[in-house]
Amino acid sequence: MTTKYDRVYNFSAGPSMLPLEVLEKVQASLLNYEGSGQSVMEMSHRSKEFKKIAEDAEANLRKLMDIPDNYKVLFLQGGGTLQFSMVPLNLLRNSKKADYIVTGTWAKKAYKEAVKFGDIKVVASSEDDTFTWIPKVKKEDFRPDADYVYFTDNNTIYGTEYNYVPETGDIPLVSDMSSNILSRKVDVSKFGLIWAGAQKNVAPAGVTIVIVREDLIGHADASVPTYLDYKIHADNDSMYNTPPCFSIYVAGEVFKYLLEKGGIEAQQKANEEKAALLYDAIDSSKLFQSPVAKEDRSLMNVVFVTGDADLDKKFVAEAKAEGLINLAGHRSIGGMRASIYNAMPKEGVEKLIAFMKKFEAENAK
Ligand SMILES: *Cc1c(COP(=O)(O)O)cnc(C)c1O
Repeated sequence: MTTKYDRVYNFSAGPSMLPLEVLEKVQASLLNYEGSGQSVMEMSHRSKEFKKIAEDAEANLRKLMDIPDNYKVLFLQGGGTLQFSMVPLNLLRNSKKADYIVTGTWAKKAYKEAVKFGDIKVVASSEDDTFTWIPKVKKEDFRPDADYVYFTDNNTIYGTEYNYVPETGDIPLVSDMSSNILSRKVDVSKFGLIWAGAQKNVAPAGVTIVIVREDLIGHADASVPTYLDYKIHADNDSMYNTPPCFSIYVAGEVFKYLLEKGGIEAQQKANEEKAALLYDAIDSSKLFQSPVAKEDRSLMNVVFVTGDADLDKKFVAEAKAEGLINLAGHRSIGGMRASIYNAMPKEGVEKLIAFMKKFEAENAK
């Protein structure tokens, strides 16, 4: 792959790599999409061509994730960040209480935003240990009258991921899956709402996917801005206003590609294989360590350190020279982070491991 177009292995947390086959298909249709004489970028969102693109994208996502019929699938704008406010604005509908599990920067941002709109409680947090593990919460930890429980399924910055679905009884469960949607099997029926910005594991930036149980929409206060009400988007098939057409189109191509390659099951197997290779390399190294509790390690974002900030910088710079780019940890924690989303080929991980071994030999203390 690197030889054909001189492409790098991009370990960025997002925007991140897309499958090469999808990029090639998009490129081939860029000037004239399926005989329409135009690019999808230039197409009316009300045209019959785009209508089919959007309908197919939704149908294929439903197939991939086995989304039950009583859930709406929305394609919105505003990034993941807008969901930090849309979720409370729509779901704080009875007691105006919600319980949040805080496992990292994104969960904390979601919490801080929700506090503006209701009685929000942090029921568990791993902040005292720099978010290196995932709290094990139980049904009894939640307020019985909470309107919803909120958590971040994969913590992109700290490299942790839930290995279980919190049990909340009848309280709707809301999950930010921005950095692990479509990476492993999810039982959608356990959730009230799942949302994900597309630019980590699905498509170019610009579209946010919201999967929401029907009975949870239509309760927003009259003062909620029209665009921020899920119901307006559900009633208009995500075409209340101009949607992010090109991002939806590429997302749709990624969905088709995943289905052709054996669906989520095959992708999960590949992801588990890639992550195991990389964590084994870290655990068997004398130079690199993982700060993350073993049972909570993310399949998507692999965080590791040498314990020496200057050596970490040297590693990131030398890796870049080898075509292994964006390996620096998030600016808030330093160290290294290899984001190995769906589209990162196994060869990219193998090249990284070979480079880590070479670097270790050259920098042994
Ligand atoms: C990237 C990310 C976000 C924020 O997404 P934006 O589209 O940049 O607003 C939120 N949550 C998680 C888990 C993320 O990884």
